[in-house]
Amino acid sequence: MYSYSGRILHIDLSSKETSVQTVSEEFLKKYLGGVGLASKLLYDNIKPGIDPLSPENVLTFSASAFGGTIVPVGTKHGIASKSPLTGFLGDSLSSSYWSQTIKRAGYDGIVIKGKSEDLIYLFIDDDDVHFKNAKHLAGLGCFETEEAIRDEIGDQNVRVCTIGLAGENLVKFACISNDRGRKAGRTGQGAVMGSKNLKAIALRGSKSINVANPEELSKKCFDLMKIAQGTPTEKYRILGTPANVLVMNRLATLPTKNFQAATWDKAELVSGEYLHEHYVEKTVACSGCPIACEHIAKVEDGPYKDARTKVEYESLFALGPCCGIDYMPAIIKACELCDFYGMDTMSTGVTVAWAMECYEKGIFTKKDTGGLDIKFGNHEPYIKLIEKIAKREGIGDLLAEGTKRASEKIGKGSKHFAMNVKGLECAGYDPRGLKTFALGCAVGTRGPCHNRSGAYEADIKGWTDRFTYDKEKGKYAAERENYAATFDSFVLCKFIRGCFEDYYKEASDLYTLTTGIEMTPDELKKTGERIWNLKKAFNIREGWTRKDDTLPPRIMKDPIPEGVAKGHLIKKKDLEFLKDAYYKARGWTKDGMIPKEKLVELGLDDIAKEVGV
Ligand code: SF4
Repeated sequence: MYSYSGRILHIDLSSKETSVQTVSEEFLKKYLGGVGLASKLLYDNIKPGIDPLSPENVLTFSASAFGGTIVPVGTKHGIASKSPLTGFLGDSLSSSYWSQTIKRAGYDGIVIKGKSEDLIYLFIDDDDVHFKNAKHLAGLGCFETEEAIRDEIGDQNVRVCTIGLAGENLVKFACISNDRGRKAGRTGQGAVMGSKNLKAIALRGSKSINVANPEELSKKCFDLMKIAQGTPTEKYRILGTPANVLVMNRLATLPTKNFQAATWDKAELVSGEYLHEHYVEKTVACSGCPIACEHIAKVEDGPYKDARTKVEYESLFALGPCCGIDYMPAIIKACELCDFYGMDTMSTGVTVAWAMECYEKGIFTKKDTGGLDIKFGNHEPYIKLIEKIAKREGIGDLLAEGTKRASEKIGKGSKHFAMNVKGLECAGYDPRGLKTFALGCAVGTRGPCHNRSGAYEADIKGWTDRFTYDKEKGKYAAERENYAATFDSFVLCKFIRGCFEDYYKEASDLYTLTTGIEMTPDELKKTGERIWNLKKAFNIREGWTRKDDTLPPRIMKDPIPEGVAKGHLIKKKDLEFLKDAYYKARGWTKDGMIPKEKLVELGLDDIAKEVGV
C-alpha cells in the first residue's frame, strides 16, 4: 500500500489490551480517512443506545490519506464518538504534526474503548503502546500537558493530543487539543476522552510514508501550492477568518447578543481589520500548509495584558458579538482560557450568551451567578464565568451541560433562546437571512455547522436567492454536504477549495497519485454521498426522527430586527417545505429515512440490513 498502512490500532483502556486490525485498500477507498473513516470505525465498534460518557463509547481517530505527504493542507485527522452534547454522531477535525504522526507510527486509525481506573496517558511508540500514569498531570492546561509529557519521555519530537481541566470535568463541549492550539473543537470529544480517564495520547513514529507516483504528485502539488499562495487564499493569509465579521454584519447575519440581532453597531471594534491592526503579532501554519491562516494575537497592556492566542471568526463571533463584548482584549483572553482549559470556543460563547440573556430577563439573579453581574458586554464577569464553566463551579456546573440541557433544566421560557440544534450550539451565520444554510443547520448530522454543511455558499455566492424558499435549496444543501464530506475525509483543509478549477477531477487525481488507488471524479462524488449517508445511518440507529431536524425556536419565531435581512425568520411550515426538498434530493423517504436500495447503491449493504427501510 502507498500512503496508507492498512492497520487500525485498537486499545481497550479497561483491560489494557491492544490489537491491530488490518483493512483492505477497497475499505480505505470507501471511507478515505479523516471524518469518513473515523465515522465508519465508530459505527462498527459501538452499540446503539449507550451513554456517551460510559466506557462503552469509543473514541476513533483517523489519519488523512494525504497526511505526511507533499500534498498541501492535507495533514489533518478526524475524531468521532457518540457526542455527549447531541447523543448522535460527533465528528471533529484537527491538524498538524499529531495528525501525520499517526501514520508515521504505522496506523491509519486508532479506536479507543473502555475506561482506565486512574487518570492515564497513552504513549504509542510505533508498535508499542504504553499506559502511563497521569495523576501528576491532572488539572494541567492543554499546552502545559503537551510539554510535560514531552519532557517526561525526553523527546521533543513526540506529538501529544490532550484534554484540559474541562475534559477531566466532563464539560460537555470540552475539546481535544494538539500541537499547541490545534483543536478537535466541536461535539464534546474532550468530555468523552475525560470520561475514559485518558488525559492525553503521545505519539512517536519512525516509519516513512511513501506515495505511489512521487514525480507526478510533486508536479501537481507544486502547481497547487503556487495557486495557494495567490489570490484565492488572500483573505485567509491577510486577515484570516476574522475578515468575516464585517461581511456578516453587512449581510445582517452576524449573531449579536444571543441572536437577538444580526447586525451590530460595534462590529468594527471586533473586526478582523481591527484585530490585525492592533493585536496580531504573527501568522503561523499547520504542518504542510502554504497558506498560514492562523493569526496569533497578543494583548500588550490593560487588565488582560499578556493574553495571547489565535483568534478565528467562529471564536470571535461567539465570544464577541454574541455576548455583546466589544473589548477585543477580553475576547483574546476568553479564547486563551478556552485553549487552556480545552473548551470549544463556539459552544462556550453561545452558552455564556444564553446565560447573559437569562440574567437580563431575570431568570438568573446575582444569587444564581455567585454575585456576577453578567449583563451583555460586561467583560470582567464574563471572563469569570468561563472559568466557572471549566471548573464546574456554581452556575458553571449548569452551563457546562450546554444550552440544550441547561434550558431544559431551568425552564422559564429559556428554551426559546437556547441557540442549539440537536444540542450543538449554533455557528456564526444567522440562518434567518440564509435560507439554504438554515436548511443545512436543521438537517446536519452533528448539528448546525458551517463546516460540515457549507450550504451558506449557495446563499452568499448567489447561486440561489438567500431570502426565498424554493426546492433547489434542497439540492444545494445535499450537494454541499457531499462536497464537504470529501474534504473532511481526504482530509484537505477547506481553505484551499478556491484553488481548484475542477475539484472532483483534481482531488481524485491527487488521491490516485498518492495512494495508487484508482479514483474517478464520479467515484469521489459517490464517496461523499456514502459518508454522509453513513453518518445519517448512525443517527437513525440512535433513534433519530424527522422532528430532530429543526431550528431553535428563536429562529422560527423572532424576526431579525434590523439590517438588510430585517423581518426575516424561518417559519415552521417553510422549514418543513425545505426539509421535504432536501430529503427528496437525497433519495430518502418523506420521513427522512434511508431506503435499503439507496444504502446498497452506496455500497453500505450491512447498514442497509440494520437501518434501511
Ligand atoms: S489554511 Fe489554516 S487551518 Fe488550513 S491547514 Fe493552513 S494553517 Fe491550517
